[in-house]
Amino acid sequence: MTTISRTKDKPARGRPALAGAAVLLPSEPARNCPLCPRLATFREAARAREPTWFNSPVPSFGDPDGRLLIVGLAPGLQGANRTGRPFTGDFAGDLLYATLLEYGFAKGAYQARPDDGLALVDCRISNAVRCVPPQNKPLPLEINTCRQFLSASLAAMPNLRAIVALGRVAHDSVLKVLALRAAAAPFAHGAIHPAGSVKLYDSYHCSRYNTNTRVLTPDMFRSVFAKVKADLAENL
Ligand code: SF4
Repeated sequence: MTTISRTKDKPARGRPALAGAAVLLPSEPARNCPLCPRLATFREAARAREPTWFNSPVPSFGDPDGRLLIVGLAPGLQGANRTGRPFTGDFAGDLLYATLLEYGFAKGAYQARPDDGLALVDCRISNAVRCVPPQNKPLPLEINTCRQFLSASLAAMPNLRAIVALGRVAHDSVLKVLALRAAAAPFAHGAIHPAGSVKLYDSYHCSRYNTNTRVLTPDMFRSVFAKVKADLAENL
């Protein structure tokens, strides 16, 4: 059973105070996490329909000692929910992993499958919501419920310096983890919000819809990671 535990310990020097600091919690949910009944029911239906798919909460991917954490929205039905690795197997992963390879946050070759040997460098990827939601739209209660795992994931990265939030839902959830006021840190593509020794970088989500409508171009996406790379090189 997963419960939210708070610690009275002060955060490490320079680290932001994590709201509901979750250092005592597992950062990965159980395979049959029951906390969001609607998503658990959707997951069970997917298991019955597609028994060879992953169909479980998708774990974070990459180096927990890395300095960069990328936070997406939720697994795509035929992407991460199918393959079991964040952003793997659908369009969003094509742009994300190509960009990470370009800026040295990944090595190997991305081949849209979890056994392609791709490795992240100084970087980890997670999602605000770990289970695939119907129509790719988690409910506010589900986002709030799954935040305990996002919070634990941040707390489990001792060298964390940069967080890239892909889209407003990820941005809003990270703000709550970092105890930042929403009015003081509004979402905008390219915006940077300091939080102690960590900076939150906003990007539009690299979804097919956003790229097809040119809300997000590959150059706009690259510019976010170029800035992160430059800031990390200067130790922020
Ligand atoms: S979305 Fe998160 S909290 Fe909800 S059932 Fe899945 S793993 Fe559990």
